[in-house]
Amino acid sequence: MLKALFLDRDGVINQEIGYLHRPEDVRFVTGIFDLCRTAQRLDYKLVVVTNQSGIARGLYTLADFEALMTWMRAEFAREGVTLDAVYHCPYHPVHGLGEWKREHEDRKPGPGMLLRAARDLSLDLPRSILIGDRCSDLAAAHAAGLEQAFLLTGTEVQPCPGTYTSIQTLAEAESWLTRSHAHAPIRR
Ligand SMILES: [Mg+2]
Repeated sequence: MLKALFLDRDGVINQEIGYLHRPEDVRFVTGIFDLCRTAQRLDYKLVVVTNQSGIARGLYTLADFEALMTWMRAEFAREGVTLDAVYHCPYHPVHGLGEWKREHEDRKPGPGMLLRAARDLSLDLPRSILIGDRCSDLAAAHAAGLEQAFLLTGTEVQPCPGTYTSIQTLAEAESWLTRSHAHAPIRR
């Protein structure tokens, strides 16, 4: 079974500016490509899990989101990184317009996107890890039974419930990955 590095998008891959939807507004977070290259080398699938209530709120369209992700995947590819899957939740239970106004298990803190990825990619969730910048990201990781969740500090007012590791930079998560695999037993 495969393991995954789950990445929240806004605040982890790109700097959080609120309802990002245009490539020209993307500022990649320092260290994201190094982290992903290391994770890829250690056989982690790279899976983006992102709440996109901006779609529900009518601030941008599903097509805008998809175009941005196509652009982003190409930027990652130029850096030698393949994003294996991207899951998004377009709904919002309160601020959604029309059909977009609903609760959904995909919306973090729900674990729906992680569970779906596990089915689609045959992932071993307990051996998978997540990096987020909000307590809701960590809650989704806990609900999905992940081994390790990191909170990239700066966005959220801590502390968050449950067990997690606070990091100031993505390089710290990269070091954790490298260290944990340096000591891993050889699998037969
Ligand atoms: Mg975020």
